[in-house]
Amino acid sequence: MSALTERLANLVGDVLLGTAQVTGVRSLPGGLVLVELTAGAFRKATWTPGWKLRIRARRGTMALRTYTPINADIERGTVELIGFVHAGGPGAQWFQQAAIGDTCEIFGPHRSMDLTSVAGRALFVGDETSLGLACALHRLTGDATYLIEAQDPAGLSEALSEVGIDAPVTVLAKDADHTDLVRRAADRVAGHSYTLVVTGDAATVHTLRRASRNWSPAPERVLGKAYWAAGRTGLD
Ligand SMILES: Cc1cc2nc3c(=O)[nH]c(=O)nc-3n(C[C@H](O)[C@H](O)[C@H](O)COP(=O)(O)OP(=O)(O)OC[C@H]3O[C@@H](n4cnc5c(N)ncnc54)[C@H](O)[C@@H]3O)c2cc1C
Repeated sequence: MSALTERLANLVGDVLLGTAQVTGVRSLPGGLVLVELTAGAFRKATWTPGWKLRIRARRGTMALRTYTPINADIERGTVELIGFVHAGGPGAQWFQQAAIGDTCEIFGPHRSMDLTSVAGRALFVGDETSLGLACALHRLTGDATYLIEAQDPAGLSEALSEVGIDAPVTVLAKDADHTDLVRRAADRVAGHSYTLVVTGDAATVHTLRRASRNWSPAPERVLGKAYWAAGRTGLD
C-alpha cells in the first residue's frame, strides 16, 4: 500500500473512528481471546444484545473487523469481546497481540441482530465466532439449547465453562458437509416452538436455514447472519 493511501486511510479513520483502551485480556482455550475495551463513548452508546462493534485492526488501512460484545457496562464504559484467533487476517492478529494499555480504533456499537426479539425457546447454532453472541443470549434467557461447531471441540467446551455458559451445549468437530450438525439440530427441536439463531460460517448458516424449513416443527422465526466465509475477508 502506498504512503499516500495509508495517510488517506488514517485521515478518514481519524474522522470516523473512536478510540478505546484495552483494559483486560484473557486467553481462553480453543483459540479464543477475551478482551475488555473501555471508552468514554461507550457511556453514551446505545447497545442491544446481538449488536456489533467494529475495530480497525490495522492502522494505515480501512480494514475494519466485526465482533459481538458479550455485554456492555454503560456505567463503566466497557464492552467485552471474544475473538477467534484462527490462522486468518488482521482481526485475528489484533486479538493475538492485544495487551492491557493498548489503544484501538472502534466504530460502533451498531445495529446487527436483535436478541431481545427472541421470545420463548431458542435453538442457537454457531461456531467460535459466535461465542460472544452465545454469551449475550445466555444472559438474556435460560431457555436456549446450543450447538456449536469448532476446530478444537475440547478447547471450545472448556472455554464455554470459563465464560459461564452452563446451559445444554453440544460441541461438534467442524465438518464441511454439516450432516451431523443438521441431524442434531433437527433432533433438538421436536415438539417445541422456537426461534433458530444461526451465525458463523456462511456455509453453515445457508445449510441450516434451508434444512430448517423441513424440520418438524419448522422454526417460528430465524435470526441468521453469516459472520465469515471461506476465501472472503472482513465479510461485514
Ligand atoms: C455481525 C458480526 C459479528 C461477528 N462477531 C464475531 C465475534 O464476536 N468473534 C469473532 O471471532 N468473530 C466475529 N465475527 C467474524 C469476524 O468478523 C470474521 O471472522 C473476520 O473475517 C475476522 O477477520 P480477520 O481479519 O481475522 O480475517 P479476514 O482478513 O477477514 O480473513 C482472512 C482469511 O481468514 C478466513 N477466515 C475468517 N474468519 C474465519 C474463521 N472464523 N475461521 C476460519 N477462517 C476464517 C477468511 O475466509 C479469509 O480467507 C463477526 C462477524 C460479523 C459480521
